[in-house]
Amino acid sequence: MRRILIVGAGQSGLQLALGLQAQGYEVTLMSNRTADEIRSGRVMSTQCMFHTALQHERDLGLNFWESQAPRIEGVGVSVAAPDATRAIDWVGKLKGYAQSVDQRVKMAGWMETFAQRGGQLVIHGAAVSDLDFFARTYDLVLVSAGKGELVSMFGRDASRSPYTEPQRALAVSYVHGLGPRPEHPEFDAVRCNLVPGVGELFVMPTLTTSGRADILFWEGVPGGPLDVFNGVTDPAEHLSLTLELMEKFLPWEYARATKVELTDGGGTLAGRYAPTVRNPIGRLPGGGLVLGVADVVVANDPITGQGSNSASKCAASYLSSIVEHGEKEFDEAWMRSAFDRYWDTAQHVTKWTNAMLGVPPEHVLNLIGAAGQLQPAADRFANGFDDPADFENFFYEPEKTAAYLAEVAGAQAQAQTQTQTQA
Ligand SMILES: Cc1cc2nc3c(=O)[nH]c(=O)nc-3n(C[C@H](O)[C@H](O)[C@H](O)COP(=O)(O)OP(=O)(O)OC[C@H]3O[C@@H](n4cnc5c(N)ncnc54)[C@H](O)[C@@H]3O)c2cc1C
Repeated sequence: MRRILIVGAGQSGLQLALGLQAQGYEVTLMSNRTADEIRSGRVMSTQCMFHTALQHERDLGLNFWESQAPRIEGVGVSVAAPDATRAIDWVGKLKGYAQSVDQRVKMAGWMETFAQRGGQLVIHGAAVSDLDFFARTYDLVLVSAGKGELVSMFGRDASRSPYTEPQRALAVSYVHGLGPRPEHPEFDAVRCNLVPGVGELFVMPTLTTSGRADILFWEGVPGGPLDVFNGVTDPAEHLSLTLELMEKFLPWEYARATKVELTDGGGTLAGRYAPTVRNPIGRLPGGGLVLGVADVVVANDPITGQGSNSASKCAASYLSSIVEHGEKEFDEAWMRSAFDRYWDTAQHVTKWTNAMLGVPPEHVLNLIGAAGQLQPAADRFANGFDDPADFENFFYEPEKTAAYLAEVAGAQAQAQTQTQTQA
C-alpha cells in the first residue's frame, strides 16, 4: 500500500487526505491544530465556493453541510458614486448555487471523519527538518500548509507573480442579524460593492458554528481609508469600524446592518498578503522532494473569492494524478506534471484575480455598467466565478468585450421586437 504524508489540514489537505483514504492509500495527515482548537478558534476565510468546487466535495461524499448551509444563487455588483449613491447595481444568477461553510466547522468535521475512518492524524506543527526525515519514509510528501512558514521551501515564480506587496488590507466580521438585500429578498447572493480607488466590501451568507450568519468583508487599498484594522485586537472595535466604513461609503449595505452583532469572539480577522505563485517542488536539505498544494504554490488575493475553490480543484486534480500514476515512483517529473495539470485551471484564476486588483480599464467599466441593462452579461459575469477561464472570451481585450456586448444587446433588441410583434 502506498504511503502518503500530507502536511496541513485545510481545504486542500483534508479533501486530498479523505480522497486518497477512500482509494485505499495509507495516509498520514499532520495538522498544527486539533479539531477542537480549529472549531473554537478564529475565523480563517469567507470560503464562498462555487458549483465546480462543491461538486468535487460531493463526488467524495464530503458535502456534510450542504442541506444546512444557505444557498447562494447570485453574484451582485454595486459601484459607489463619489456622493455614496449607487452608480451601478445588478445581480447575476448562478447556474449552480454556491455555498460558504465556515472553515472552522468544515475542517474540524473533516478532520474527525479522517481519524474515524482509520487515518493517522498527527498533531504537530511540521518544520523543514521533520519533512527531511519523513521524505525518506513515505512514497510521497505533500505540503498543503497554506500561506504559513513552510512556503519558504518553495521559490517564488517571479514570471507568474506580478505583485511583490499585498494589494489589499483584509478585514472580516461574521455577524448575526443582517437583513436581506431589499432588491432580492427571495434569494441569497454574494454582494460585491466596489468603492473606486478605495476598496471593496463583500457581503455573503455562511454557515458558522452557531448556524446561519453573514460575513462583512472589507478589502482596502493599502494606505487608504479602509486600511485601519491593523492592530485592532478588540472584536467589538473591529465590528464598529467595519460598520462606520459601511455607513460612510456604502449606505445601502449599512441600512441592513444596523442590528448586527458578532457571531462569537473569534468572528473577526484582519491581515494582508502578497499574491504569489511558487515553484511547486520543494527541495529538502537531505535531497528529498516535496510537492506543494493549493495556497502553498498559488496564493491569490481573496478579491475574487477563489482560494478555497482553487484548493478544492487542486486537491481533485492531484488526486487524479496520484491515482493514475499507480505504483510508479513519484519523482520530480511526475511532480512537475501534476502541478502543470493543475496550473491549466489555476492560471485563469491568477490572471483574473490579478486583473481585478488593478485599476479597471475602460472596457471593463463598460462591461460592468452594461450588465445592469443586459441580464445575460450579468449572468455570465456571475458564472465566471465558477469558471474563470470564461473571462478569456469577453473580459481582457476591449475588442472581445465590445463584440460580446454588441451580441447580447442585439439578441435582446431582437427578442423585444418579437415580443412587440406578437403583442
Ligand atoms: C479574508 C479571506 C477571505 C477569503 N475568502 C474566500 C472566498 O470567499 N472564497 C474562496 O474560495 N477563498 C477565499 N479565501 C481563500 C481561502 O480561504 C484559501 O485560499 C484556502 O483556504 C486555501 O486552502 P489551503 O488548503 O491551501 O490552505 P489552508 O486552508 O490555509 O490550510 C492550511 C492548513 O495548514 C495548517 N498549517 C500551517 N502550517 C503548518 C505546519 N507547519 N504544520 C502543520 N500544519 C500547518 C494551517 O493551520 C491550516 O489548517 C479567503 C482568504 C482570506 C484570508
